[in-house]
This record gives sequence, C-alpha cells and structure tokens, in this order.
Amino acid sequence: MGKTINHIKQIVYTCPECKMRYHDEETAKKCEEWCRKNKSCNLDIIKYAIKEDEHSS
Ligand SMILES: [Zn+2]
Repeated sequence: MGKTINHIKQIVYTCPECKMRYHDEETAKKCEEWCRKNKSCNLDIIKYAIKEDEHSS
C-alpha cells in the first residue's frame, strides 16, 4: 500500500493492485487484500475510493 500526500495535504493511501486511492487506511488495506486474492475489485470497497482526479505525482 502506498501512502502519499495530496495537494491539499491529506494523506492518501493507494492500493498497489488497482491504483484506487483512499483517505482511509483500513479501506485501502481491505482493497489491497481483496485485489490480491480475487484479481478484481470489490464494489463495496471501491465505493469509498477517491473519485476526483487529484494525482500528486
Ligand atoms: Zn485495490
């Protein structure tokens, strides 16, 4: 799981498998575990993903 700071200084956790970004570490971990195991995304998890494009790279 990647941890970055976005342009408004919020901590953002990135799932390394699907590249979805979350403000919540727990959710990001769940996503990562799910993605590794299932090779697909769980809609109940990715609904919490950050939707707006706020890449900080
Ligand atoms: Zn994921």
